[in-house]
Amino acid sequence: MSSSPAAPARPRRRKGEGQWALGYREPLNANEQSKKDDNPLNVRARIENIYAHRGFESIDGGDLRGRFRWWGLYTQRKAGIDGGKTATLEPEELDDSYFMMRVRIDGGQLSLEQLRAIADVSVDFGRGSADVTDRQNIQFHWIDVRDVPTIWQRLESVGLSTQEACGDCPRVIMGSPVAGVSADELIDGRPAIDAIESRYIGDQAFSNLPRKFKTAISGHPGHDVVPQINDVAFVGAVHPEHGPGFDVWVGGGLSTNPHLALRLGAWVPLDEVPEVWEGVVSIFRDYGYRRLRSRARLKFLVQDWGIEKFREVLETKYLGRPLIDLDAPAVPDTPVDHVGVHRQVDGRFYVGAATTVGRISGPLLQRLADVVEAHGSARVALTPMQKIVVLDVEEDRVESLVAALAELGLHARPSQWRQHTMACTGIEYCKLAIVNTKDRAAALIDELEQRVPELDTPITVNVNGCPNSCARIQTADIGLKGQLVLNEDGQQVEGFQVHLGGALGLDAGFGRKLRAHKVTGDELPDYVEKLSRTYLANREDGESFAA
Ligand code: SF4
Repeated sequence: MSSSPAAPARPRRRKGEGQWALGYREPLNANEQSKKDDNPLNVRARIENIYAHRGFESIDGGDLRGRFRWWGLYTQRKAGIDGGKTATLEPEELDDSYFMMRVRIDGGQLSLEQLRAIADVSVDFGRGSADVTDRQNIQFHWIDVRDVPTIWQRLESVGLSTQEACGDCPRVIMGSPVAGVSADELIDGRPAIDAIESRYIGDQAFSNLPRKFKTAISGHPGHDVVPQINDVAFVGAVHPEHGPGFDVWVGGGLSTNPHLALRLGAWVPLDEVPEVWEGVVSIFRDYGYRRLRSRARLKFLVQDWGIEKFREVLETKYLGRPLIDLDAPAVPDTPVDHVGVHRQVDGRFYVGAATTVGRISGPLLQRLADVVEAHGSARVALTPMQKIVVLDVEEDRVESLVAALAELGLHARPSQWRQHTMACTGIEYCKLAIVNTKDRAAALIDELEQRVPELDTPITVNVNGCPNSCARIQTADIGLKGQLVLNEDGQQVEGFQVHLGGALGLDAGFGRKLRAHKVTGDELPDYVEKLSRTYLANREDGESFAA
């Protein structure tokens, strides 16, 4: 018996990725639909005219869960729920009527007036909450929508903003905390940051991107804005013929599918940085993948195209001219964090001090402003390593300032543990969190300072509350990803999946995920102590932990 021939396979239609430039303009998911329905920046008028008067219950669901982000507002986690229980709740059950509000501080530097405005908003509207993020933002919690217009008024009166601090748009532009004063700086990137901020932030042509877009611009050669993990980075570099300018990197990012940025191999002068930035962000807007949010970052496009095609499209379609080639400049061993006392180019000093995992407060910032002013300085800077730098200090005031900062818990000569441990927001406020990060990391530092005070070289410990990577776990010596784990009695408790051996800088790479290495929160001090002692006992000359 002969069987009938199989029907020829139907050619499968390739599903589009939602790339606008290829004609896929119809929204392929709810997020894209929401952005198409109404440009998210328009939500400000509704906050000012409706929600601030009628309160939380009046907020439209699409605005609440989506568009509010474009003005730096996320609903915060409902207070008092522990990690084990919240893991089983639906997102809407986690909503509370308060918000996290993120203030973008482009370039990271703050005048005293701006510092005081932030401190006062925290005290008056945020129950004193304020965290320094690892992208030079400040985050308040406990914000009531009724207070938002007043908060904007206060912040904007001193030149600060929450516009596009979150959402699928160009986020805060990171800049060297010591721009304009560092003796090591090759070029001051602040004019480019200011130009991008004033030309493009809030421009509706760039407020509907596939997802967030992260920028870093620094003329410091020490990678002090972690350029390797940004969507686009401009890093100070000297061209042998053209002089100081910027080396351009694209396509970096962490989260659940990390990639290091790649060099375009191009040199860009300071005054052309905004135009090249516009070209890169336009490629992301036009060609970025919009179908799946998990693929909607520039890094996926860069990986799929390759860096040569990316540069070619940038030059031919967006700039209309070739860029100037640049050979690879030197990369520092590890990113500089500016902690300690450093002489400025003008003979004065800057003093970098470690916070404890970015947790500060409004009252502390008020006292900091007083201390800074009393020591003759008029400005500070936040760093991508959750540190605070006081700028422009006369030599004879330095030691008094160092002592006064220490009284505030800001240490210019911290232990290695305090200097190199970071933590994300965690379960206290973040709705995606599975575990507590800030308290656990702070307690870990205290323990390790007692147990391993002899540590004389950096071991970076980064603590995340979930599989996202707000605290950059993949690039830490010891990366701790929050999850529920089983304790020795078989009960589910807060714990961490361990990633070991990540780094940024010269030997940049992602830590290895050790499947067998899961520790409970309570075991954490023992675990890190054991690792560090093993390293100290076995290291050879100058060998780093990651090696
Ligand atoms: Fe929240 Fe996860 Fe980011 Fe931490 S890493 S702030 S828990 S989303």
